[in-house]
Amino acid sequence: MSEKTGDVVIGIDLGTTNSLAAIVGKDGPRILTREDGAALIPSVVSFLDDGGHLVGEEARARSVTHPRSTVHSVKRLMGQHLEEVRRREGDRLGYEVVATEDSELARVRIGDKLYTPQEISALVLREVKRVAEQALGHEVEQAVITVPAYFDDSQRQATRDAARIAGLQALRIVNEPTAAALAYGLDTSREGTVVVYDLGGGTFDVSVLKITQGVYKVAATAGDTHLGGDDFDHEIMDRILHAVRDHVSATATIPVEALQQIRLSAEGLKRQLSERQDAHLEIDLGLDEPIAFRITRQEFEAAVRPRLDETLACCRAALKDAGVTPDQVDEVVLVGGSTRIPLVRALVEEMFGRTPHTELDPDRVVALGAAIQADVLSGGNKDLLLLDVIPLSLGIETVGGAFAKLVTRNSTVPARATEMFSTSVDDQTSIEINVFQGERELVRDCRPLGAFKLRGLPGMPAGLPRVEVTFLVDADGVLTVKAREQRSELEASIDVVPSHGLTRDEVKDIIRDSIKEARSDFAARELIELRNKAHNLATGTRRVLAMPEMPFTDAQRKDIEDDLARLDTLSKGEDVAALREACDAFGDKTQALADQAIGEAIKAELNREQSRLPS
Ligand code: ADP
Ligand code: MG
Repeated sequence: MSEKTGDVVIGIDLGTTNSLAAIVGKDGPRILTREDGAALIPSVVSFLDDGGHLVGEEARARSVTHPRSTVHSVKRLMGQHLEEVRRREGDRLGYEVVATEDSELARVRIGDKLYTPQEISALVLREVKRVAEQALGHEVEQAVITVPAYFDDSQRQATRDAARIAGLQALRIVNEPTAAALAYGLDTSREGTVVVYDLGGGTFDVSVLKITQGVYKVAATAGDTHLGGDDFDHEIMDRILHAVRDHVSATATIPVEALQQIRLSAEGLKRQLSERQDAHLEIDLGLDEPIAFRITRQEFEAAVRPRLDETLACCRAALKDAGVTPDQVDEVVLVGGSTRIPLVRALVEEMFGRTPHTELDPDRVVALGAAIQADVLSGGNKDLLLLDVIPLSLGIETVGGAFAKLVTRNSTVPARATEMFSTSVDDQTSIEINVFQGERELVRDCRPLGAFKLRGLPGMPAGLPRVEVTFLVDADGVLTVKAREQRSELEASIDVVPSHGLTRDEVKDIIRDSIKEARSDFAARELIELRNKAHNLATGTRRVLAMPEMPFTDAQRKDIEDDLARLDTLSKGEDVAALREACDAFGDKTQALADQAIGEAIKAELNREQSRLPS
């Protein structure tokens, strides 16, 4: 085989239920299939007693008989805090999720072994890599991997880590809806609004994309992290179990092996109902005769209709968020295996008043789009550029616990911002940079992303060091924070370490809270800022007073000392208005002092308004 090797980049859809890879070849994008022709690799890992493990279809087949050693839906755990996982998943997962002592992040426990979600995902990715290499006939080391649009920094970083563990370099992390739109070629020369409706195995996502000159922006997302094909399987399974209980006694326990079989059969019936009006099945439980079960498409549709109506409500919410009406939508794209259900297609068509795109296989479009992006990166296609937006503002803590935002929400990635800060205490030899994400004014209401220290500073008076803080969010949404003290040329940085992740509902809540609390946040923040201002005025003034060359009279000194004492008292209180007034009045007075002062340095000292970092 001689497709070019070495710098080949594949596209990977790392799904909650299924994963798969694709590549752009001479004849366009195509899926890389397994030896037996199968394209979809179930994202399931089953650990065996002998220390080995199975991945894919074979692992999925064990999920009912060995639920505690079979890990499915690990994507729900990526970059997540244990508490979050417990709250959202309850005991739905079947396997054990714990946290280690040194971190609050979720881990999977199998027997006495702990695995990070990244490690489990890596096992799935390794199988995807193996299938791709087998299909191409050579090694693959680089990939573009897709993630849901609402994944935050830590979830994206966790996905990159999973790739690295699997021996793949994730050249780029691309949003799933963006990849789907790319697969349909909705990028070139067109301006417009695209809605991507993605109904998979366990999750529903709808995204509104705005395209301008080949650049994508995710304008809004909505969805339900527990709505998908599995729910439809359960509807059928419940009916099968009902039929079984009519034959055996209502209280009889059904062996897990039989339950396993019934679940897989239910999914099979569901798939058949996408093609025909009814489907049936004979269940052999080793009784005298097999039990017959029949279900019509009409019955199935009635059973799933309420859940589908929920997806439509999400679509309306996303459109509203993006500020567009259904008739302003130019294209609708269907993604996810569950959109093969005819009723889904009909309802979406009715809602948007246009026929959605279904030409490509709905469970393959995301991988195909990822392959197109991979092709761009390996130099095959040069006209595309992909941009996405930052879901929540990013910044650092300043003295008093205020949050200084450097990169604001909805900025397009890649994004870069630089701001100057200084110290709040004399002779600080180290400065801590605390990185947060959120929309509130105080860091205690934001999400910590990481922290690092700039050490070894030569002691300088407070306010003198010039610390340049730079935020860089790369095209994949990965954040690098750098701090540089300009006088000493000391430098330190971090790539944001994964902490717990967020769902899009939580992002929404965060934004809603920031609006609700805006008034009280503003007051709290103003108080902190005024206290800082008073503190800075006092230190600067005391320094000037101490200078031997300053010709102050005793009366002047006493007057200033009295003012400073009053500022100090007001700073300890909560009266924002009085403190503001006192600061302003004292500021005016020291302005005159500054005019008396010799040398620009002293003037600058008194006028310095720079934000200070905590000590
Ligand atoms: P994910 O994105 O969550 O990894 P997929 O897009 O692969 O998942 O969708 C998997 C879901 O699609 C499963 O619930 C599967 O039963 C369902 N599905 C696949 N084909 C059909 C079909 N013909 N009719 C109905 N549902 C289907
Ligand atoms: Mg998917």
